[in-house]
Amino acid sequence: MDIRKSEQLFRKAQKYMPGGVNSPVRAFKSVGLDPLVIKKGQGSKIYDVNDNEFIDYVCSWGPLILGHCHPEVIEAICAAAREGTSYGACCEKEIELAQLICEAFPAMDKVRLVNSGTEAAMSAIRLARAYTGRDKIVKFEGCYHGHADSFLIKAGSGMLTAGVPTSPGVPKSLVEQTLVCRFNDLDSVKKAFMQSGPNIAAVIVEPIAANMGLVNPQPGFLEGLREITSRYGSLLIFDEVITGFRVCYGGVQTLKNIKPDLTTLGKIIGGGLPVGAYGGKKEIMNRVAPEGDVYQAGTLSGNPLAMAAGIASLQKLQANDFYESLASKACDLTERLQSSFAAHDINCAINRNSSLFSVFFTEQKVYDYESVLSCDTRKYALFYRNLLQAGVYFPPSQFEVCFVSAAHSDEDVDNTVKAVNKALDII
Ligand SMILES: *Cc1c(COP(=O)(O)O)cnc(C)c1O
Repeated sequence: MDIRKSEQLFRKAQKYMPGGVNSPVRAFKSVGLDPLVIKKGQGSKIYDVNDNEFIDYVCSWGPLILGHCHPEVIEAICAAAREGTSYGACCEKEIELAQLICEAFPAMDKVRLVNSGTEAAMSAIRLARAYTGRDKIVKFEGCYHGHADSFLIKAGSGMLTAGVPTSPGVPKSLVEQTLVCRFNDLDSVKKAFMQSGPNIAAVIVEPIAANMGLVNPQPGFLEGLREITSRYGSLLIFDEVITGFRVCYGGVQTLKNIKPDLTTLGKIIGGGLPVGAYGGKKEIMNRVAPEGDVYQAGTLSGNPLAMAAGIASLQKLQANDFYESLASKACDLTERLQSSFAAHDINCAINRNSSLFSVFFTEQKVYDYESVLSCDTRKYALFYRNLLQAGVYFPPSQFEVCFVSAAHSDEDVDNTVKAVNKALDII
């Protein structure tokens, strides 16, 4: 595979941007490669500047559930652009997207549109703190809610001891306000509430964890969070930035029939342009300015381009059988990958939910952060490099999920299985 042009460009990138990228995972560090510089996306494929073609299972980390460059999404963006890119004033399209979102999520009476998932999660906890008059939040080890200070915290050496920031620059006074519990472990949550219940504003969780690889919630876990938070008068926040319109039209909360107090969204609702959202019950959302006193604003929030892309995408997702056919394609793929690994006598755990999946290089079942950490990341890196050579683009980290899009064809699935077999032959 010729990658000379990518290498040249990446050297220049490193001169002008920290690490050569604008988001760390793009640097390919954990797979020991220089990143490819991408020139174009089309359907299920991406192309780098060296004109290599790859079947793409990153899909921009989730937004592109219709694949790259979907004609109706692109047309909607172009048509919107001809009317101006941003007004800094109300526009009809933001009302339309807000309505689509609230109609899809029974627990969202009202929604505020922002520009990223980070912004959505950051704003949701400010609102939860204001509404409850409490400062502490509970999050889970291995869940990601963007890069706001309050979320860049992991558990200390023992549960219930003070957390540790995962980045310098997070004030100590904030670290003390974030309690870190174990995903799929209700006991750890009960302990946190026994210790600090009256001071906990909210529990925030990815209802299907998709930022430590894919980890499904165990039966009763999400229901238990609903019960505990209600009992203590804390808010439950579902961070559905990935899962929102991914697992079904209406997110995990619709599938499981659990009503969180607040929900955060992003990724798919922007159709590939920057959008985030947070919303929930009327009495909570009415606290957001200008209706209420909790300040939050955005120059480009609700801009017509992003709204047009989001609306066009959500409309496609309303088609009958959309989610069934997407999930069955992903199911077919993962079943065949399981067989490939078995045939090569290589241990793996494959987790899947709808069109999200992860291939973990481990002998164990993967159901929480600790079992995720049992993975052989060096083996994943080797697998990744072999797979790239064979024309398939997986996430450049063991701890990220694969996304299947509606643009992936049966032929893509066949070719992916062939590439995986090739990659495993030389592991
Ligand atoms: C991607 C993601 C975010 C952050 O969204 P950005 O748009 O990258 O800021 C927050 N929460 C979850 C669950 C995510 O997957």
